[in-house]
Formats: sequence, C-alpha cells, structure tokens
Amino acid sequence: MKYEVVMGLEVHVELSTASKLFCGCSAKFGADANENVCPACAGMPGMPAVLNKKAIELGIAAGLVTHSEIARKTTFDKKNYFYPDLPTGYQITQLFAPICRNGWVEVETEAGKKKITLKQIHIEEDAGKLIHDGRTGTSLVDFNRTSVPLVEIVSNPDFQSAEEVIAYLEKLRSLFSFAGVSDCKMQEGSMRCDVNISVREAGSNVLGTRTEIKNMNSLKAIAAAIRYESERHIDALETGGEVLVQETRRWDDNAGETFSMRGKEDATDYRYFPNPEIMPVMISDEWIAAVRESLPETAEEKYARMTAELGLSEYDSKIITGSKRLSEIFDGTMQYFNKPKEVVNWIIGDLLSVARGGNKGEDDIEIDCEKFAKLMALVDNKTVNRNVAKKILVLVLTEGVDPAAYVEENKLGMVGDKTVIVAAVREAIAENAKQAEDYKNGNEKILGFLVGKVMKKLEGKADPQMVNSLLRENLT
Ligand SMILES: [Zn+2]
Repeated sequence: MKYEVVMGLEVHVELSTASKLFCGCSAKFGADANENVCPACAGMPGMPAVLNKKAIELGIAAGLVTHSEIARKTTFDKKNYFYPDLPTGYQITQLFAPICRNGWVEVETEAGKKKITLKQIHIEEDAGKLIHDGRTGTSLVDFNRTSVPLVEIVSNPDFQSAEEVIAYLEKLRSLFSFAGVSDCKMQEGSMRCDVNISVREAGSNVLGTRTEIKNMNSLKAIAAAIRYESERHIDALETGGEVLVQETRRWDDNAGETFSMRGKEDATDYRYFPNPEIMPVMISDEWIAAVRESLPETAEEKYARMTAELGLSEYDSKIITGSKRLSEIFDGTMQYFNKPKEVVNWIIGDLLSVARGGNKGEDDIEIDCEKFAKLMALVDNKTVNRNVAKKILVLVLTEGVDPAAYVEENKLGMVGDKTVIVAAVREAIAENAKQAEDYKNGNEKILGFLVGKVMKKLEGKADPQMVNSLLRENLT
C-alpha cells in the first residue's frame, strides 16, 4: 500500500520589539529570572493592557513579505486556560479577526519549487517559562517571557515531506530576519514550530487521524520527529494494532521518539471571547504603505543584486544572503572597501573560520566593518601579507584593534626590500643544500619547504609570491 503524509505547520516567531506586547517591560532575551516583570505582565488584578504599536507594524511587515492580505480592522481575544506560566489565566491572541490572511511562501527543494499557502498570521503574547529543579524537586517560574509579542503563522496542510518543512522554515527565517520582523533564533526560542501530521492512502482525499508534534528546537530535530511520527502512523495503519488518536505529542530528542502529552484540544475548549480592554485596531492603506516603504532589501533582492550587478558567483551570493548578519557585514564593509569579490572571500574564508574557532555562530559575529575593511586594504596595497592579516583579524574580532596602528606598532609591514629577501633566500639555500639539490633534480614539491624557511627568516612578513620567484631564480 502506498501512503502519503500530509502536514500543516504552526510557527511561532517572537517579534523584534524593544518592549512587551501590553506593557513597557523589556522584551530582551537573556535577562536574569523575573528581571523584566511589572504588575501588568505578572497578571495583577486591574492592570490595563496597553497595545504596543510596533508589534502591529511588525505584524503588517510579516504579512507583506508573505504576500498576505492585511486586515483593515483587527481585534484581540482572550484564550482561557490555566497553567502556572500564564499568570493572567488567559492568553491575549487573535481568533476572530487576525491581522493577516491568505498569504503564501514559495519554497524550493530537490523536487522543485512549490507554493505553501498560509491560512493566517495572528499576533499574540508569549507565556512565561517553568524551570524544573531536579535537586529540590521544585518548579520555579520565570515571567520574563510573559507577554513578549509573537506572530503565529498558520499554514494550510500543504506539506508532504520533511524537506519541504525545513525549506519553508528556512525561507520564513530569511524573510523575517531580513525584514527586521524577528531574529528567528531557534536556539533562543524566538522561532518555534509545531507540526500537525496525518497519513492517508495515496490518492485518497480524506485526511487521516491527525497528531500534533511539539517541543522541537532545531531543524534537525524537526526532520527527525517528522520521520519518526510518519513511520508510527504508517505502522499503525498497516497493522491495525494501534489505534491512532487525535492528540498532542512531545518530541524527545534524546530518545528519538514522540510521546503522548495530552488529547488535542479544539478551539471550543478555550472559551475564546473578544478582549474588552483592547479596542479594535484600524489599519489604513497609508499605514500599510508606510510599512512597505520602510522594509529593507529582501534576501532574494540582495541575491539578485550580488549576482547581476556585482558579478559575484551564485555560490558566494547564496552563503552571504543565507544569513542576515553576514549580509550586514558584507554591506557595511563594502562602504569602506569597494571590491565585492575580495570582501566575500574575506567573509567566507577568513571571518567565518575565525568566528567558528571562537565557537560563535554567524548570527553572533560582531565586527567593526570599518576596521575589517582597513585590514583588507592593507593586504590589497601590499602593506602586509595575507597570513599576517589573518592573525590581525583575530585581534580585530576579539579586542577591536585598529589594523593600521597595530601593524605600525608591531612592525609587521611587509619586507619589500629585494636585497633583504635575496640575502635570506641565499642563506636558506646554503643551510638546506640537500633540499636545494633535490629541487634542481626536478622535485618541484620541495619548493614549498624552502619558501617556508625563507619566510621564517623574514618573520613571516615577506610577500610569498616574491619569495617564490626569487627562490626559483637563485636555484637555477
Ligand atoms: Zn510588564
């Protein structure tokens, strides 16, 4: 029997606002527990909710980059449930009039291009976080995340493989991070994804029993969870032994399995009703136009510009536009050093390897673009050679040194005096007579060894090409 997997996604993305959705507390990640809490987001009775205008604008931006219809009137509702990380006893969200509907996102996998359609995007507040302390057997609650603004992007059941799901999440991350909607860092929980999955006989148009998988915090975990869960459904259908029930399941990354959490609730279980404290938000054409106007270049536009206007390769352009941060570094450095191919080589070849050596992801690289550009110029005008420059790059990244001043102070300028280099070449040949003889007898490979000896004498500061040609001259 042939089966097909049908999936829909609910993706939560934290909006890049400075403050929370309904109070003035900081929305920044990484503060000490309960540092960013006030009576409003702690759920004290009688505290009014005041809507964050920036969150609405980022919601509009999320809609624009996903080709969605933007509502002209959007409203907020209460979703009622009890859980210790939700101090008010309800979550403020949008059920009846979400900010966006009917969008789409194009994804590309090895199978080709495909349009994923979106049912809606709505704005809502996040919940707090429970911290379970195994030593004392207690659970503590951190309300810093309570009421941080999110958008939830609800897709239609358009996905048929884990590859499509991953391509879609990567696309959303690119669209939203370039538009400044969110930093979309999965490791910090600012992008999270629930997958609704069902399996049916191929060709059938009746959907099978649906389960929802939660608690996945990396693309790798998502792909693994989808594969595991679709196999579980197929096994159940084949043997008829296990009855599938509509439920929410938790992914355990260590065990590599999903576990039942609870029966899947329907909307009626939450007793939604319009939130009487928050007035409907009216969105004018002018407001939408202003948000559209303020949107920066998308990854796709940047890719087109890099390949067509700057003449860069598809490979290079893809790496740079695959990360919002790398794109910013590219643009920032180009302002001071206008040689695109060299800037790309420095970013992909040197900056990334130095950053990874220091255990930094590309999103967390912090570098002064002007100093980075200065370093490139020092190599370009042959003040220092590339190896010396690489060592200076580490110091630019870790200590913020000024490359030109550092070269001056430490006398790292390239040895350009030909007589000095020739003297070192002759010394090296005399001290390594056997290798020099080997070279003369046709062993080309030994030249690298001799170049190394000369460079060492010149403290690594000569132009390797000049050393190379002077060595050849003196050996023949
Ligand atoms: Zn607050």
